Amino acid sequence: MSALPIAGHWFERKALGDGITLLWEPHVHPLLRCNIWHVAGRDSDLLIDTGLGVGSLAEAAADLFGKPLTVVLTHCHMDHAGGAHEFGVCCVHDAEAQALAEASNHLPLDIAAYSADDLAWFSGVGYDISGGLLTAIPHAGFDPGTHVMQAAQASRLIGEGDVVDLGDRKFEVLHLPGHSPGSIALWEVASGTLFSGDAIYDGALLDQIPGSDIPAYIRSMERLRALPARIVHAGHDPSFGRSRLVELADAYLNSRSDPMTIDVIVPEAMRKAYDAFHYAPAVREAGLIFCSGVIGQGDSAEDEFRDAWEKIGLILAETGANYTDIVDTTIYMVDLAANAAVMAKVKDEFIHAPFPASTWIGVSGFVRPGARAEVKVTARVKS
Ligand SMILES: [Zn+2]
Repeated sequence: MSALPIAGHWFERKALGDGITLLWEPHVHPLLRCNIWHVAGRDSDLLIDTGLGVGSLAEAAADLFGKPLTVVLTHCHMDHAGGAHEFGVCCVHDAEAQALAEASNHLPLDIAAYSADDLAWFSGVGYDISGGLLTAIPHAGFDPGTHVMQAAQASRLIGEGDVVDLGDRKFEVLHLPGHSPGSIALWEVASGTLFSGDAIYDGALLDQIPGSDIPAYIRSMERLRALPARIVHAGHDPSFGRSRLVELADAYLNSRSDPMTIDVIVPEAMRKAYDAFHYAPAVREAGLIFCSGVIGQGDSAEDEFRDAWEKIGLILAETGANYTDIVDTTIYMVDLAANAAVMAKVKDEFIHAPFPASTWIGVSGFVRPGARAEVKVTARVKS
């Protein structure tokens, strides 16, 4: 027997104008409290999702269901499809039909069925369910411990580009996998209204549950971000407008993209300089290797310049490239008139035709006192 009180009524509802009514289950934890949408049409009405299936939606909202009704399930998780068995006609995406027929997305409603690890996992993804999934029961004798989701049959399979037509309103099906394989949204172009299901809502999104697919979710989110929606009526949580849609999509995309990083090239011999002076000998980006300027060491100009070119070879070798991969050189020198001829001679020991682009610049000095030249090159990454 459940210690929970019996709810006076199981569903709340609110008319939002534009023929749209929101229904929800106030005694259900937000994790499983889905938004149920009723849209009035001229020839038929649309019901989007059916709730958990513990209280009778067909009875509670009978006054709304006067016309022929098209029931569309955004996907077949228990909180959206649990009540589908009450309605003879359900449209689902192909990829969800089996889950609906087998009621395979059942979740226990009795919190005792969850291990401490389960509870910690739910908490980690944004849902603290430790206090229970229900705050009331729908009728006397209802036992959360024995309740199981009921199966239902799909009467029509819907997919990308299909249209649900109410006579005066047309909703296009968008296939937005990620949360689940056959997650769909309904898009009314004329009004800019999107019923998004769990593809996006203003709460903690779930992309690591059975059937979830993060790369697919990323692609769906990029699609949603580009949609010129005026209003989004989501599978959970409050409705929102276009700017919030973009914010939520960006937040998801940022959370799932690699952190901004650069590919630094640091030969072991230069590790100390990298750590001490905070610069990379080279960085690999966009198919190119950008080398830092290199100053050689040597008593004579010739020895100094040769040492610089040899060090450049060492850096390039770290990536598998060599002198023939250099596409651009910039050479800075003090006393250009005196050093240019020596630099030209030494350079030719390393650089052969076809020659890379090259710029020579006279300067007043370098970080290392007494140095005569600094050589900077850009090379292509060996493919
Ligand atoms: Zn879901």
